[in-house]
Amino acid sequence: MKIVVFVNHVPDTETKVKIGADGVSIEPTGVNYMLSPYDEFAVEEALKTKQKFGGEVAAVSLGGDANKETLRKALAMGCDKAVLLKDASVRDSFGVAKGLADFAKEYGADIIFAGKQSIDYDSAQVGGLVGELLGIPSVSVVVKLDIADGVATAEREIEGGHVIVHVKLPAVIIAQKGLNEPRYPSLKGIMDAKRKPIEEKIPAPVEPRVITTAMYLPPAKSAGKIVGTDAAAAVELVRLLHEEAKVI
Ligand SMILES: Cc1cc2nc3c(=O)[nH]c(=O)nc-3n(C[C@H](O)[C@H](O)[C@H](O)COP(=O)(O)OP(=O)(O)OC[C@H]3O[C@@H](n4cnc5c(N)ncnc54)[C@H](O)[C@@H]3O)c2cc1C
Repeated sequence: MKIVVFVNHVPDTETKVKIGADGVSIEPTGVNYMLSPYDEFAVEEALKTKQKFGGEVAAVSLGGDANKETLRKALAMGCDKAVLLKDASVRDSFGVAKGLADFAKEYGADIIFAGKQSIDYDSAQVGGLVGELLGIPSVSVVVKLDIADGVATAEREIEGGHVIVHVKLPAVIIAQKGLNEPRYPSLKGIMDAKRKPIEEKIPAPVEPRVITTAMYLPPAKSAGKIVGTDAAAAVELVRLLHEEAKVI
């Protein structure tokens, strides 16, 4: 089976994000990066699918050279092949999806895995767009997956319950937290990943459809107030919550 998994290189959740001088992008200096957490579920499911059916897992990332670090993490987890679709400009979701879909088509993917959302821009669009661009089904927020006889049975999380759907492969499976327990890369996996080549391709340019016009951080929170540490402080706390915060 030819299995493709999309992996994005995103700022670490611990990063204190700063807006760049242009006012429409994130200042990259001092930012630590990681494999987008939902993509870890996608990689794990791709590897489990290979364990069951055999074949090859290709991890693909669209971005600049820095994305190689994330591709190496995917290789260390067990992916067979890593491909960088090299474009250091910041594409919108459609531009990213087009590059990834073109690759999946050329590669002849039997199944594609993506994360629910990329935890930098949070658009939650790329997986669905890839399905549409390739004319194949996509199933979002998947928390359980079974594949048999070319049909994927996916359990989706919906408000207050779950729904089960069937889709014929090829299809895009969009991972939600809980789909599996992502494995940690082994030491051997990490060492092997350092030696494996990362293939580079230049994706076709795409006219942006969404233009970012401004980016700003939420206003800084005012410092907290400690009203005391003894029992008497409780009385003062209730007074402040009632008279100042007006929440009780
Ligand atoms: C500091 C910074 C630098 C950036 N540099 C670049 C850059 O060099 N080039 C560029 O094109 N964009 C760049 N971006 C954009 C960034 O990678 C976005 O995450 C991307 O445009 C998709 O965001 P989204 O919210 O639309 O994805 P969503 O729709 O939320 O993503 C859903 C899923 O699609 C897949 N996916 C999304 N984006 C990618 C990707 N780029 N590669 C592989 N799989 C993906 C993942 O499986 C992800 O879980 C940068 C962003 C930041 C914050």
